Amino acid sequence: MSEKITDIRELSLEQVKALVTELGEKPYRAKQLWEWLWMKKARSWDDMSDLPKAFRAQLAERTVLRPLVLAEEQKSEDGTVKCAFRTWDGHIVEGVLIPTPTRLTACISSQIGCSLTCSFCATGRLKRIRNLDAGEIVDQVVLIDRLAHQYFKQGLTNIVYMGMGEPLLNYANTMRSVDRICAADGLGMSTRRITVSTAGIAKMIRKLADDDAKFNLALSLHAANDAKRDRIMPINEQNSLGELKDALRYYTRKTRRAVTFEYILLRGFNDSLQDAQELVRYASDVHAKVNLIEYNPIDGGEFGRTDSRDAEAFQQYLDRKGIVARIRRSRGRDIDAACGQLANKNAPAVKEGERVLK
Ligand code: SF4
Repeated sequence: MSEKITDIRELSLEQVKALVTELGEKPYRAKQLWEWLWMKKARSWDDMSDLPKAFRAQLAERTVLRPLVLAEEQKSEDGTVKCAFRTWDGHIVEGVLIPTPTRLTACISSQIGCSLTCSFCATGRLKRIRNLDAGEIVDQVVLIDRLAHQYFKQGLTNIVYMGMGEPLLNYANTMRSVDRICAADGLGMSTRRITVSTAGIAKMIRKLADDDAKFNLALSLHAANDAKRDRIMPINEQNSLGELKDALRYYTRKTRRAVTFEYILLRGFNDSLQDAQELVRYASDVHAKVNLIEYNPIDGGEFGRTDSRDAEAFQQYLDRKGIVARIRRSRGRDIDAACGQLANKNAPAVKEGERVLK
């Protein structure tokens, strides 16, 4: 730890304690420092006002603190706020503040880009560049929470890991970020308010159950037969619907928690009566609820949005068959609301005039 520069937020509490001792400071400074990092949301060494200046200088010499910066925001007529965040090494990731009458939800990213190349997704066009670390994931929550206070005079009620990237392919940082968001010496939110959404990696779903993960789990299903799902989500080739079903049953048995399916309605592709029948069968087998999502078409993409009336008919069919299904209206149609769209479009352009929330 002593020679190389360390990202301070990559250290565990035990490592922070060891560093504090090594720098000749009193042990209680470790707790103070830890709270600045995770509870009091420090964005620079200067923020840590009750730590001695000399100690802060030593910390700055030995470690780095690399918070995300809000580089651009777009506000939709419907209140949705889309954010482009810049990482310390110059990449853009996206987060969204989604207001509804009962909730203020932050949709956050877990990776820069994504390796899974789902064909309906703008992020899939960006190659996976790297994982976000836990601090960078938490920063999105902190910064979107500030926007929630700024625009809606209240804090976030819910967090969904549904932005750029596949959280279960960045497992350790996802788990650590949830821990820091929920810890009493972190942001203090309830795990019941957090949903991690996966494209479907069977062995990692089992691992979540084995690790007793307490947050909600959502599966981005989008098609309930393998041929169709293979076409739009290449990850399905190694994680077939049958394998996913076994993993989800294992998960629900072990955690006693239901899962939710996310199902984007793509016009003429997965919104027929037969698709609804297949979805009913699959959702019944794992007792899943279904969120039907109105699609935000992406530039040059092959899919369109299902008409509202057809979406309602689809939902009513599920309802009649005993599947709890809600329609999630597409938000922010007047801005670059589809996941990955803002990053795709603006990555090199936003450095000038970027806004630092402090
Ligand atoms: S939908 Fe999710 S998993 Fe698929 S490419 Fe987009 S970000 Fe990656």
